[in-house]
Amino acid sequence: MYDVLIIGAGPGGIYSAVELLRRAPQLKIAVFETGHPLNRRKCPIDGEKVKSCVNCKHCSIMSGFGGAGAFSDGKYNITNDFGGTLYEYIGKSYALELMRYVDEINLAYGGEGTKLYSTTGTKIKKECLQNGLHLLDASVRHLGTDINYVVLENLYRDLSKKVDFFFETPVQSVTACDGGYEIKTGKDVYKCKYCIISVGRSGSKWMESVCRELDIPTKSNRVDIGVRVELPAAIFSHLTDELYESKIVYRTQKYGDMVRTFCMNPRGAVVNENTNGIITVNGHSYEDPAKQTQNTNFALLVAKHFSEPFKDSNGYGESIAKLSNMLGGGVMIQRFGDLIRGQRSTAARINESFVVPTLNATPGDLSLVLPKRILDGIIEMIYALDKIAPGTANDDTLLYGVEVKFYNMEVSVDNHLETKYPDLFVIGDGSGITHSLSHASASGVCVAREIAKRENNA
Ligand SMILES: Cc1cc2nc3c(=O)[nH]c(=O)nc-3n(C[C@H](O)[C@H](O)[C@H](O)COP(=O)(O)OP(=O)(O)OC[C@H]3O[C@@H](n4cnc5c(N)ncnc54)[C@H](O)[C@@H]3O)c2cc1C
Repeated sequence: MYDVLIIGAGPGGIYSAVELLRRAPQLKIAVFETGHPLNRRKCPIDGEKVKSCVNCKHCSIMSGFGGAGAFSDGKYNITNDFGGTLYEYIGKSYALELMRYVDEINLAYGGEGTKLYSTTGTKIKKECLQNGLHLLDASVRHLGTDINYVVLENLYRDLSKKVDFFFETPVQSVTACDGGYEIKTGKDVYKCKYCIISVGRSGSKWMESVCRELDIPTKSNRVDIGVRVELPAAIFSHLTDELYESKIVYRTQKYGDMVRTFCMNPRGAVVNENTNGIITVNGHSYEDPAKQTQNTNFALLVAKHFSEPFKDSNGYGESIAKLSNMLGGGVMIQRFGDLIRGQRSTAARINESFVVPTLNATPGDLSLVLPKRILDGIIEMIYALDKIAPGTANDDTLLYGVEVKFYNMEVSVDNHLETKYPDLFVIGDGSGITHSLSHASASGVCVAREIAKRENNA
């Protein structure tokens, strides 16, 4: 019997535990996690013997202590403009306050000395507007993959003194029982008064089944599909040196669709991502200059909203990703020039390219994978970006596909992030409300404060 059981040790789960220990240290807490402890998380891809994803039982990129964020670029965006809609539940100023609070904790646990970038007062905003592009407002703390790891190590060192962690222990079911909740793992049953579910993107299918079983309403109708662009870092350096990450939105002239830049990694590397066995693409970069590359990468994503009767937006995204996996055996790569000329990129053409790819992907033809409307939007945006960052539309600019931003179905919760079941909370990316490190972490702090308030006032 525990006071609080947390399912998932990603940023949402971790920051719930951190805040519970600060505000209600008397509580007995356990965390259940499908993946491995941080020091045992190792993706087998080494670029030599293992060059592409081998579909491990528990993907070390997506699961384990630190969640999907453990090997991420560690970009904590402090903003309500993107990264989730937490503010719709808890209000804009409280959401920002919690994101700043998380930032302070990150600094205290090893992130001190890292840079906080901001769009405030930048001339780039005007330049974007003059070219039909919109730069979103944000402050971004870039921890980098290396420092992000140190912060997680330090957090775990402190947490594990007081919190029971159960790794390689996926939770199978959550049921309401007398005085709280019962959770079942493969072999054991645990009970708790409060239950916080924070299972992230990799737990999306499981989350759906829990909602079905408990009859908790959900809704879902969006998926973002696109490519990861990789080009010489010099082309974007005037943006990345000042802002680090610029979130730029463009409305296409042809269809009026929204295309946006996402997850920009200056001098970074492109990586595989495995979501439920489907290989898509992502990127990250290091704070340590010795580990940086010559290239910058970022995603270009087209938002696709579906209306009735179609409900399976994630299924649509998965089908497109599966198509690229079918044709390329994983992620596909194409030079922008080849795409425009309607020809497949070959290994020879990639080798001749002046931009050296940082991910070993299969040369191919993205027009055989991406729907025309999405591809047209991406091409239009590349030409629009070329106006503020000349060279973006060069022949040798590399496009990796596909990048899919799945949105978990949105779980119905109130403004304490509590389901219709008292003391059962759903937070982080698994709730469909957050899509980022800072929002997921903030949602964890929010729920922990609520639980502490109830306990301390009881
Ligand atoms: C390569 C990569 C780079 C990224 N870079 C950034 C970035 O720079 N900035 C940013 O803001 N965001 C980034 N993201 C997104 C960010 O990592 C997520 O938004 C964030 O981790 C969400 O936190 P979470 O706690 O909600 O979920 P997660 O981090 O996904 O954690 C959920 C955890 O729950 C576990 N779990 C799932 N189901 C169960 C179950 N049934 N039982 C027990 N445990 C379970 C999973 O194993 C996982 O460890 C990146 C993501 C990836 C993959």
